[in-house]
Amino acid sequence: MKSIYEANEDNIAKAAQVIKDGGLVAMPTETVYGLGANVYDAQAVARIFEVKRRPTFDPLISHIADFDALPEYVEADQRVWALARRFWPGPLTMVLKRRGSHAGVDLACSGLPTATVRMPDHPVAAALIRQSGVPIVAPSANLFKSVSPTTAQHVYDGLGDQVDMILDGGSCPVGVESTILDVTGTTAVILRAGGTTREDIEDFLGERVLLSHGEPDRPSAPGQLLRHYAPGHRLRINAEKPQENEFYIGFGTRDGDLNLSPSGDLREAAANLFAFLRQADTTAGGRTLAMAPIPEYGIGLAINDRIRRASHD
Ligand code: AMP
Ligand code: MG
Repeated sequence: MKSIYEANEDNIAKAAQVIKDGGLVAMPTETVYGLGANVYDAQAVARIFEVKRRPTFDPLISHIADFDALPEYVEADQRVWALARRFWPGPLTMVLKRRGSHAGVDLACSGLPTATVRMPDHPVAAALIRQSGVPIVAPSANLFKSVSPTTAQHVYDGLGDQVDMILDGGSCPVGVESTILDVTGTTAVILRAGGTTREDIEDFLGERVLLSHGEPDRPSAPGQLLRHYAPGHRLRINAEKPQENEFYIGFGTRDGDLNLSPSGDLREAAANLFAFLRQADTTAGGRTLAMAPIPEYGIGLAINDRIRRASHD
């Protein structure tokens, strides 16, 4: 398996060179594995869309490692800086107004007047970004619409040798994607629930934050497609108990073939979610999948968002 490399110092340095040379590197972050490229290399950015089979109207998030490396193509006001200082590094992506024009950036942003930025909380991602010396655009390192990867092996299973280097940094501790917060208007709006909770953002801002359930036809929120994160089997959600011929993924006291968190811990459940969906897919055989109800607060919002899309048909 030649494209998976242990994320040690030497290999991170090699990977940074791959990024500089216009290649693609899959990197661990605290959320999921990302498929990274130099945002200023339009061909490399184009290859991300190609390898993932992701439509070019679905824009990519720019990842940075330091506060003074906020890309010059975004505008940041005081509220943005305050949010950044509170939640970065961490699973919060901000939608910001964009300025200037550059082929790679335009492609990464799908031509929108906005750009998204995040500072991942993972030492491997941070080292890779710093050594590459550019913002790294990175969507999840999987085929479009399939279950997101939380291990290096998941990346390899989905994308194989199309990725120049996969840095193996173990399992992703958060396990669901970042929260996407649109701060271009007066009221902040969550476009995608994720690893940073709505409660924490509201507490910090001291005001209510809106939650958009997505307009799948609008290009500014394509991460909100109705069917996404989909396993190969049918999935029934909010299932109090399994029916005959169902592979049951439990939560808390509702036990099953797998249990996202026997103690009912939502963070543990989020970290297990995508790996368990994959495992269920490979072991369910002729059965379909069902999942126990997940509470709709904290990171439960993100879990419910993903499984709603995963169960859509
Ligand atoms: P991901 O699938 O984790 O790569 O997240 C990408 C999602 O972030 C997209 O599907 C959009 O919903 C959102 N996004 C990324 N870039 C932009 C942008 N430039 N403007 C608005 N939303 C964006
Ligand atoms: Mg994705």
